[in-house]
Amino acid sequence: MELYKENELKIYNSLTKTKEVFTPVNEGYVGMYVCGPTVYSNAHLGNIRTFMFFDVVFRYLLHLGYKVRYVRNITDAGHLENDADEGEDRIAKKARLEQIEPMEVVQRYTVDFHNVLSKYNFLPPSIEPTATGHIVEQIEMIKEIIEKGFAYEVNGSVYFDVVAYNKDNNYGILSGRNIEDAIHNTRTLDGQSDKKNPQDFALWKKADDRHIMRWPSPWSDGFPGWHLECSVMSTKYLGEKFDIHGGGMDLKFPHHECEIAQSKCCSGKDPVNYWMHTNMLLLNSQKMAKSTGNFILPNEILTGENKILSKAFSASVVRFFIMQANYRSILDFSSDALEASEKGYNKLMEAISSMEQIVSSGSSSVDISGWRAKCYDAMNDDFNTPILVAHLFDGVKMINQLKDKKETITKEDLTILKDTMNAFVYDVLGLLNDAKEESSAKIDGVVELLIKLRKDARENKDWALSDQIRDELAELGVQLKDGREGTTYTIN
Ligand SMILES: [Zn+2]
Repeated sequence: MELYKENELKIYNSLTKTKEVFTPVNEGYVGMYVCGPTVYSNAHLGNIRTFMFFDVVFRYLLHLGYKVRYVRNITDAGHLENDADEGEDRIAKKARLEQIEPMEVVQRYTVDFHNVLSKYNFLPPSIEPTATGHIVEQIEMIKEIIEKGFAYEVNGSVYFDVVAYNKDNNYGILSGRNIEDAIHNTRTLDGQSDKKNPQDFALWKKADDRHIMRWPSPWSDGFPGWHLECSVMSTKYLGEKFDIHGGGMDLKFPHHECEIAQSKCCSGKDPVNYWMHTNMLLLNSQKMAKSTGNFILPNEILTGENKILSKAFSASVVRFFIMQANYRSILDFSSDALEASEKGYNKLMEAISSMEQIVSSGSSSVDISGWRAKCYDAMNDDFNTPILVAHLFDGVKMINQLKDKKETITKEDLTILKDTMNAFVYDVLGLLNDAKEESSAKIDGVVELLIKLRKDARENKDWALSDQIRDELAELGVQLKDGREGTTYTIN
């Protein structure tokens, strides 16, 4: 039986501001959309926190036995410098400053993003669609919104009519903003903008002469508004109504509010059942900003090449640190906090490695199934990873007592203990055992050294020594194989 049938998962829904029992649209299947990066600069640590949390959500849903379609987009056009539809396209600006093609900018930072994510052991999403790959669909959606009477064209640009939409719908349903107040309190437009109302947002923008990223449309040569791509790509791949939509909480307004409005105009339905938002990340208790120097790149944590850090940290330690905070709380990133997490992480990994030394007996003095249930309860309670980590440390305590024979465990319970530890630590939290990897690198070094000594022995015609090295390694399960390119080996 799939695990999801015996686990009642609850999710804090940002839309209703309550924890709700998770019931997917189609039993056994989950559709999840997370707003991905705008690829005009290196991956940002705050974004990594968000994507890492949703990676754990993805992993836990898979662990529960759901078939998950996880869509995380790449924004490679349409995201202007500010959210009020003004300024240059972020990617085009970078391309202009560096005198390269916009698609070179996109390629460079998409590759960087993927490199960072793979170093931090992320699972790839099921689909990673791009805005530029869905221009046709975006134009179709704009046509539909115009037809339904919720958008208007002015001078080659198309704007969403927030006032018209708000008559029978609630623009502000997610962010809690009262749009009526906003409309009443705004001064009349100064004639600089084509919008009927300052709250209206662009679905299509006519490109001015210097704007190089442009596509033909019924209204002008131009480009889609930033909010549109997510409505198009989420509903294209997940349906008019899907299960989970995630992102950083800075995206609630206007981005996600606009997504709801656009999708609802077309299908008549609220597109998302569960909205999830991650809180922000601070660095040394302050907002991260390049301008103040209070800034660090995810890669610099792994190399230690940033004065903010006392040393380098492994990706798993960073992951473990991030998971020790609830995703809805502010996370304060610092070198000291990472060092504290490293100690905890090492303790956890030592305990997992020493599970092999536990000898089972006829009865259990520890409550393994109770402990296992607590681990699931923590994750079922809105993916409460810090509580899960606390239970994993109860597991560590148990392992150490069992190893010291202060407690006893049956063979069946020992299997449950090992399986549960491995499942939550590796499959769900996505941690890796650095020590294990480090020690296997050391073993590689030792075997290479012995191969070299054997080669020297053979060159000195010391056959006895060369055979002794080969045979004794074989006894340890290390098979040497001599070939034209030199000696290789396999470890059983
Ligand atoms: Zn989005």
